[in-house]
Amino acid sequence: MILDILTYPDPRLKQMSAPISEITDQVRALSQDMFETMYASNGVGLAAPQVGHFVRMIVMCPLNEKGKESHAPRALINPQLTLLGDEIVSPKEGCLSVPYNYRADIARVSRVACSALDLDGNSVDEEFVDYCAIVLQHECDHLDGKLFIDRISYLRRSLYDAKVKKCRSRKNCE
Ligand SMILES: [Zn+2]
Repeated sequence: MILDILTYPDPRLKQMSAPISEITDQVRALSQDMFETMYASNGVGLAAPQVGHFVRMIVMCPLNEKGKESHAPRALINPQLTLLGDEIVSPKEGCLSVPYNYRADIARVSRVACSALDLDGNSVDEEFVDYCAIVLQHECDHLDGKLFIDRISYLRRSLYDAKVKKCRSRKNCE
């Protein structure tokens, strides 16, 4: 089932999500719906709070520049990241929850170590690099109620907020 995606400035996107204590059939069903929703929106990652479930689960399927999968699609539960590697710029980052196709360059790191659980409750301890590392940092931010626009300069943010306000009052905008 394709779920509705919450979009900024919905205040629920600022909510901190809770750890998943038990991987039930409900959790597995939610992950399936999240994959469907992500593919339907041509996204490369989706976090549960974006579809109104405030639990710590993300799905991701990062693509390389040629549009091919660079990593198997996966669901990660209660992911914990350790930031490693160099600081890099994630060029033109975007988000399914940030409307009007807004994009910005965001400072990220090139490598992260992730511990999480998979859908069978097995531990996942893995390092992710480059694009996958960026997607993972972006999705884990959602679990803490953070969007990439919380990482841009005050000036850029003010300009974007003004645009959102204008677009919302006109009810259409690109
Ligand atoms: Zn996002």
